[in-house]
Amino acid sequence: MITLPPHLEIHDDRFATLVHPMSTLDEIATGFTWTEGPVWFGDHDCLLFSDIPSQRILRWSEGEGVSVFRSGSGFNNGNTRDHLGRLVGCRHGTRDVVRTEFDGSLTALADSYEGKRLNSPNDVVVSSDGAVWFTDPTYGIISNFEGYRAEPEQPARNVYRLSPDGDLKAVASDFVQPNGLCFSPDERVLYIAESGSSHDDAVPSVIRKFAVDGATLRDLGAFAHITPGLPDGLRCDVLGNVWTSAADGVQCFAPDGALLGKILVPQIVSNLCFGGRDGHRLFITAKTSVYRVFVDVRGAEPWTRGAA
Ligand code: MG
Repeated sequence: MITLPPHLEIHDDRFATLVHPMSTLDEIATGFTWTEGPVWFGDHDCLLFSDIPSQRILRWSEGEGVSVFRSGSGFNNGNTRDHLGRLVGCRHGTRDVVRTEFDGSLTALADSYEGKRLNSPNDVVVSSDGAVWFTDPTYGIISNFEGYRAEPEQPARNVYRLSPDGDLKAVASDFVQPNGLCFSPDERVLYIAESGSSHDDAVPSVIRKFAVDGATLRDLGAFAHITPGLPDGLRCDVLGNVWTSAADGVQCFAPDGALLGKILVPQIVSNLCFGGRDGHRLFITAKTSVYRVFVDVRGAEPWTRGAA
């Protein structure tokens, strides 16, 4: 009989096929303030992640450890890559979604809606048609990072879709605070975290599930209730399982919403992503540190899958 390491909780036998019972939870970087936005760049064999309060995007690689990828990041939070592999991020400071071009220059993709400034874009995904989907809660302008504070101009905390031709539309407007989001592997479902319980205990800590009908969303209700804490960043694997942040670590749910298991992390988890040279690593941003664990499944996002 195998004794489980203390960081693993198996709620369903399927979880033992996703995270090997002998896997270790490794802290690969530490000394930050609030880490977020992990994204794997297999073509550069490195992980990028944000340290929001210090306004930096950090780069980590197995051989070289941590270096500064970008300073003065404008309180960059969530990151992803688009259909061409370019870095796309959300900035609280400039209250926009920004793309890093191949030459390193920055292009602001969206900073206002219906003539009013966005709240503070938090997290972002790009569908394979090049549309940019992002959430716009108010955390970045009410959390007082480095004294930065502003009154929201938007009447709601929307989820947006920016079409490839630049048309910005609100696709969900009934969130208290929308946060992380991810597509199912076939992009027919979009999962979006409701983290409004950070302000109001009466708001359920749920991941909501939406059917993607072209450029619009159809609400399919609550997918999973998260406890303890609330859901922030989340990602799907190639099997359609949903891996989400929670106060006690990473929680993994089957496509039918069943809790499969947990990776317990000693700090509050903000976000996670798949990656690694072979695609079999889960990188976890958790407050002051970044952790890594071996997983027996690859991420749904094509650039995270590594060498075959
Ligand atoms: Mg977030």
